[in-house]
Amino acid sequence: MKRLVDRLAAERRLPRADMLALLACEDAQTLAHLFARARQAREAVYGKDVYIRGLIEFTNFCKNDCLYCGIRRSNARARRYRLSREEILACAEAGYQMGFRTVVLQGGEDAYFTDERLCAIVRALKAARPDRAVTLSVGERSRESYQALFDAGADRYLLRHETATKAHYERLHPPEMSYERRMACLACLKSIGYQTGCGFMVGSPGQTAEHLLADLEFIARFQPQMVGIGPFIPHRDTPLGAFAAGTVELTLKLLAIIRLLLPNVLLPATTALATLDARGCEKGMLAGANVVMPNLSPAQAREKYALYEGKATAAGETANALSDLRRRMESIGYRVAVACGDHRSSTDGEGILTRKKGEHDPCTTPNP
Ligand code: SF4
Repeated sequence: MKRLVDRLAAERRLPRADMLALLACEDAQTLAHLFARARQAREAVYGKDVYIRGLIEFTNFCKNDCLYCGIRRSNARARRYRLSREEILACAEAGYQMGFRTVVLQGGEDAYFTDERLCAIVRALKAARPDRAVTLSVGERSRESYQALFDAGADRYLLRHETATKAHYERLHPPEMSYERRMACLACLKSIGYQTGCGFMVGSPGQTAEHLLADLEFIARFQPQMVGIGPFIPHRDTPLGAFAAGTVELTLKLLAIIRLLLPNVLLPATTALATLDARGCEKGMLAGANVVMPNLSPAQAREKYALYEGKATAAGETANALSDLRRRMESIGYRVAVACGDHRSSTDGEGILTRKKGEHDPCTTPNP
């Protein structure tokens, strides 16, 4: 098994049967070797730096009805809120003062945030702090919308694909949502020039090893700049609320495999991981992650942005906990960096965008 890990580290891929064997492996020594190789790959590109992203959950209104999500439109028990432009800018500024050089605007698919409103917010964020990266995570939008937001200054975009298997996607989403559309959105974002992030839930209901293999194959093909994975955590007010959560162990194994597939990827230790394990953040780093996304949202908003239950942020993950995060990272030999933390391409050592703004390729995918 260790030879498989070494082969994955050297060749950045494995035959399907070998990858399935690695996914099934529970041998402690092999896993320790896998994590050590993942750390080695991460440190070769990003050193000991841990990049922090200030997360602002600015709206929990959503037109969609994803079966696993606590803020799905059918959940009448969700207490809805929207932050004003001024509140968003104030959260981002407070974060900047603390050392956050990336802000992530995350929200449901909320029609209130038209291109005009969202572009104005992105422009204001960039005007206030030109050295700050703006990441958006606001779901599926049209190609024109993605382009307008990019032109307004957005640098990165996170859109989880959730699963690269169409039948599984359809099990997790209502009929009006489309696997093809999700994939077309991702291709479009990358084509426009965003540093693009995809990702999936680990242990979602009905997920098999074959599904995970398909996710890894998709990631290897798509070559995203960021990958966000976290364990599935059920929310009782959803149709999937009675299913068991995904596991920390499998999530860590997948983080390490993804690091070896894409050594340069920006890979967060997600809040969901920290929700299931108080040391999830440290364990994620030791499995090859290099990003953390502390919450900058106002306290009253944080508990309402409940995609799943028991979110770690409600138990104290606040921007004020940054010094605690620094201490915890130092305890495992890493350091929180005050840096924009762009993706580093395999051909540069500086951390540059894969395509500079203004140098767009035409979008070759169907209009999402
Ligand atoms: S997962 Fe995202 S798109 Fe789906 S219901 Fe939740 S917020 Fe909306």
